[in-house]
Amino acid sequence: MSVPRFRSVLDRFTAYKPGKTAVSPDGRSFKLSSNESPFEPLPSVQEAIADAARRINRYPDNNATALIEAISARFGVPADHVAVGCGSVGVTQMLLEAVSEPGAQVLYAWRSFEAYPVLTALAGAESVQVPLREETHDLDAMAEAITERTRLIFVCNPNNPTGTAVRRAELERFLDRVPEDCLVVLDEAYREYIRDREVPDGLTLYGDRPNLAVLRTFSKAYGLAGLRVGFLVAHPVVAEAIRKTMLPFSVNSLAQAAAVASLRAEDELLERVESTVKERERVAEALRAQGWTVPPTEANFVWLRLGERTLDFAAACEAQGISVRPFPGEGARVSIGAPEENDAFLAVAEAYPHRNG
Ligand SMILES: *Cc1c(COP(=O)(O)O)cnc(C)c1O
Repeated sequence: MSVPRFRSVLDRFTAYKPGKTAVSPDGRSFKLSSNESPFEPLPSVQEAIADAARRINRYPDNNATALIEAISARFGVPADHVAVGCGSVGVTQMLLEAVSEPGAQVLYAWRSFEAYPVLTALAGAESVQVPLREETHDLDAMAEAITERTRLIFVCNPNNPTGTAVRRAELERFLDRVPEDCLVVLDEAYREYIRDREVPDGLTLYGDRPNLAVLRTFSKAYGLAGLRVGFLVAHPVVAEAIRKTMLPFSVNSLAQAAAVASLRAEDELLERVESTVKERERVAEALRAQGWTVPPTEANFVWLRLGERTLDFAAACEAQGISVRPFPGEGARVSIGAPEENDAFLAVAEAYPHRNG
């Protein structure tokens, strides 16, 4: 009996497997594997969601008018420079759909965000990966890897999973070397956690660069990972292109309402971000004091290059009810959680026999 025939590219992937939740023998369970906010939604945001739920019999606003106006007002950009999507991963997919055709290349550092290779292949384009240098983007090597087939370049700043960020001068020098017909996507999923003043805000860079798109999300600092909403800021030519590749109604009405409410409550949310940043510094310093090498991080996670010991380390964390994100053979990414979660993680790191670096 034969079975339906699928695109051969599907044979190269297994379906995404979310990490299993670790539970310790005494019942503790700390999820430090997905870079989520450890805080539950603010009461005002929960209310906005509950209120929107009463109209869930209706389709969402496909133009996300209120949300786009709120983003436009908050970030001081024209509304026609903004497009929203089902998470910034959704926006990434729309961008790849907009540029990909047979022979097109998509360039990015590696290791970086796991969605890039999968979505590139699914869009029918070819990935070109440029190794990180000292856990950070090697922008010179990336510029040299550009060909006439390069259609899109991702710069993940700060980089997931290493946490490192590129600074203004080197980023601008890189952008100057990219051909004008090649789109650069600056993925700023962790923008709100950046404290290094030399790391540029993408929104200050895209004004005179029609080939630069800035990606942001409500999933991390704004704490709405479960609702799926992200956005792009770019010149109208880019924003229009992705409106064409958008799956209709893919940003649901609860997500739109919650995102608008989150922008209204931004001061409160950014206070939480500040406490996460303080925890990040505490965790990184404590790990260094224990003898670990921790690359400077501008995100809400730390990176430990454990090489062959990565899975063993992840198992040691799991035995204590802590899930981290291992990349076998490379290292482990550990999200910054609530203080007690971070303490539990630091205790495991302290007891672990093999230090890195
Ligand atoms: C978490 C993350 C995102 C956010 O994805 P959403 O789809 O908005 O939840 C985007 N880019 C990077 C690099 C991330 O780590």
